[in-house]
Amino acid sequence: MTQGRGLLVPGLDPEDWIGYRAEAHAMLDAALDLIEGAGERPVWQPVPPAVKAALATPSPQAGLGLAATCAQLRTQILAYATGNTHPRFFGWVHGTGTPGGVIAEMLAAAMNANVGGRDHGAVYVERQVVGWCRDWFSLPATAGGLLTSGTSMATLIGLAVARNRAIGPDARRIGLTSTHATLTAYASSEAHSSVAKALELLGIGSAALRLVPVDADFAMDAAALADRIDADIAAGRLPFAVIATAGTVNTGGIDPIEAIAALCRQRELWLHVDGAFGAVAVLSEALKPRLAGIEQADSIAFDFHKWLHVPYDAGCLLVRDVGLLHAAFSTRPHYLAGAERGLAAGDPWFCELGPELSRGFRALKVWFTVQEHGTRRLGQLIEQNCRQARYLADQIGCRDGLELMAPVPLNIVCFRYRPEAADAAKLDALNADIVTTLQMRGIAAPSTTRIAGSLAIRVNLTNHRTQFSDLDLLLDQVIAIGKELHA
Ligand SMILES: *Cc1c(COP(=O)(O)O)cnc(C)c1O
Repeated sequence: MTQGRGLLVPGLDPEDWIGYRAEAHAMLDAALDLIEGAGERPVWQPVPPAVKAALATPSPQAGLGLAATCAQLRTQILAYATGNTHPRFFGWVHGTGTPGGVIAEMLAAAMNANVGGRDHGAVYVERQVVGWCRDWFSLPATAGGLLTSGTSMATLIGLAVARNRAIGPDARRIGLTSTHATLTAYASSEAHSSVAKALELLGIGSAALRLVPVDADFAMDAAALADRIDADIAAGRLPFAVIATAGTVNTGGIDPIEAIAALCRQRELWLHVDGAFGAVAVLSEALKPRLAGIEQADSIAFDFHKWLHVPYDAGCLLVRDVGLLHAAFSTRPHYLAGAERGLAAGDPWFCELGPELSRGFRALKVWFTVQEHGTRRLGQLIEQNCRQARYLADQIGCRDGLELMAPVPLNIVCFRYRPEAADAAKLDALNADIVTTLQMRGIAAPSTTRIAGSLAIRVNLTNHRTQFSDLDLLLDQVIAIGKELHA
């Protein structure tokens, strides 16, 4: 071999592959140790000042080499994770990850596939994943879509299609004009903030989002929605989309999708479902009926990185008529021309279904997770989390000093510690303190939200590692810390 001859600068591959492999294998072990021992560490610990300082230094001109870089990764980064691989991580809506996800991520990096387009294996993997999802939601064969970084991006893309449909065939060229100043969308008062953000980015503005009231189960009041749409039409506005939520972030509420779908059909509105975590409950036979109507959606946004445990980040957008998605994003300049054969074949390219050209091989970790575990097991884990949420709610009902604050329709439990004779402001501060203390001590990581104005300890269960005993421990600690702080 005359490797490197004539090169002033050698490439980035190692000179010593044997040594490199040894270091890489050790890092794979570190990765698996991290997961195998997930429950044995504190759930979370703050990043120490020295580490923050080390992570604020300028870029090195001369590389440190593999061994020193691996050492820094081990000492400065690995220990300070979010904590969502831990069985007692209950905050926000975080997925748990899997060891298989590590394998898939590693191999995706090795392939370094760009799934923006062209004709290669990764494209077929993403198409297969999208096809699976279409089947999960019983969408017709016309449906298609693409993987995204998450539901926020999927909702943005889905609502871009809805906006273009409202503007008409010339939408991409003319954009929003004065004719469209009254475009109006609808979501419940419990909708996620990513919906308003999407409307802001689409030039429609968040003031054009009507927040429809919810019922006692925190699900959209469909009659109120109908009234609001009709009032807006009478006032000369242009309703164009309804965003139904399948699993609200505060309480796990599910909007009445079937009734909303019927309304959307009558009024010719686009129905987008934000099913970030909740939509994949269709994989449970027991829970699927709760999502009835989702099969009528014009678009569905949901995540693999939440309740399907695929490592971050991985979401999906499905559009009932993939032709509309293609029409919204397809553009093939000379440098992206297709071909009948060869690497430039494989129409349509994924870059024609969304705003991004270069796209990583997210589909591999999704494909790997579903292949390895199967939809039945994934669905059973979703059911188990719902059973755990009900168990937690029951325990809260049995224990002195605890108060359940919202119904528990799915996997989220909102409650608080409530000693006698504490006023509203005091209760809010005390419960916020309990959550912070649980986190700071590394015991458990719930988060907080507000229910009817009052601060709640919020426990979200999208965690395949949580045991029932973890929930008992959580309640014991909430009470113990509550007493300690209140004293
Ligand atoms: C998490 C979440 C989102 C945002 O999804 P990302 O994947 O974080 O972008 C939107 N809606 C709901 C209901 C969510 O729970």
